[in-house]
Amino acid sequence: MSRVTVLASQVKNVGKIPLTAAVQLLSVGKGIDDNLIGLQKQVNARVGVASEVRDSDKPWSFRMIWTWCGGHADWSDEKWLELLDRLVQAGISGVLLGGPPAQVRRVAPVAKSAGLAVHAWMWTFCRPSDEVAEKHLDWYQVSREGKSSLTVPPYVGYYKWLCPSNEDAVQHILKTAEALAVIPEIDAVHMDYLRFPDVILAKGLQPKYGIVQDREYPQWDFCYCERCVAAFKKASGISVNEADDPPSIPAWKEFRYALIQKAVDRVRSVSSRGGKQLSAAVFPHPELARFICRQSWDDFDVDAYFPMTYQNFYEESIEWIGEACSKGVSALRLKGKESALYAGLYLPSLSSEDQFREAIEAALSNGADGVSLFDAENLLPYHFKVLTSLNSG
Ligand SMILES: [Zn+2]
Repeated sequence: MSRVTVLASQVKNVGKIPLTAAVQLLSVGKGIDDNLIGLQKQVNARVGVASEVRDSDKPWSFRMIWTWCGGHADWSDEKWLELLDRLVQAGISGVLLGGPPAQVRRVAPVAKSAGLAVHAWMWTFCRPSDEVAEKHLDWYQVSREGKSSLTVPPYVGYYKWLCPSNEDAVQHILKTAEALAVIPEIDAVHMDYLRFPDVILAKGLQPKYGIVQDREYPQWDFCYCERCVAAFKKASGISVNEADDPPSIPAWKEFRYALIQKAVDRVRSVSSRGGKQLSAAVFPHPELARFICRQSWDDFDVDAYFPMTYQNFYEESIEWIGEACSKGVSALRLKGKESALYAGLYLPSLSSEDQFREAIEAALSNGADGVSLFDAENLLPYHFKVLTSLNSG
């Protein structure tokens, strides 16, 4: 039996655990038993496939399909089980599971027992409803207008952003990462909002807020807190607050890219200590990510990239999903990185079977190792139909 055939047979066996077994695990809070260890091995085999088989001609069975899934502490056990079972039956391979650590701890064992890979979805710098952080005004980013994102959040009320230069704020993020990384059933910590606030919103979103952003404006340009300004002055000799046009200073942009990258490295240390991998939700491709939100993600050292190739946000076609994937993969390869890339698809923008299928094909034919669907609750019968047909084909 060839190596490829062996791997294919392993993949086919994943996700076949009866729902009743998952119910039992959830109900009695059972730890890792023999059954679960067996499942873990199967899931590891599947995860291994994604990183080991990288050629563009690999068959559908070697692709991973992910979905972001909110925490929903108010959901009953039955509701969770019903959703997870539907995902598995459709051939979905992994979930990016949201919610605070206690909620992830509750649901992760069930998702894992059902045969799903599990990444714990963490909001990194944007921290809405964070009671601990909100006691510390100085933990938050400040705009070029001098306003705190805690008291004057840009665009929407939940856009409250911690400053990557504030050690206490970063320690607070690391504590969350640690609480997730020690959960036995997760495979990775998944970092989202790993960036600055959008200094320029995606073109398709600007009308929603009644704004035109033809350049970088002060009220959406962060972080001009005392710490960041002083640290940049020390590093570059430039007083950015006194500059005529701060957005025109390349070193100031680079300084902020590096702050985010440093945070990635620190979270990686925490996840590694827990024996877990690290993944990141990122903007569609590195060039756009730098332009919009100071996110130089091709420099990040993570195990899997999830670029949110939401074409409608940018008033682009479905074909553009493939172009974004191609740019992302090329940028990573140029830097010698072999980590997996899964294209994020915004389900509400793919309103027919044909569109959904076309989006998946655009991603896969341009170097993506799979797709990630936003989000589980947006999955409708026609999405399931397409996924099922692809997996049985
Ligand atoms: Zn700052």
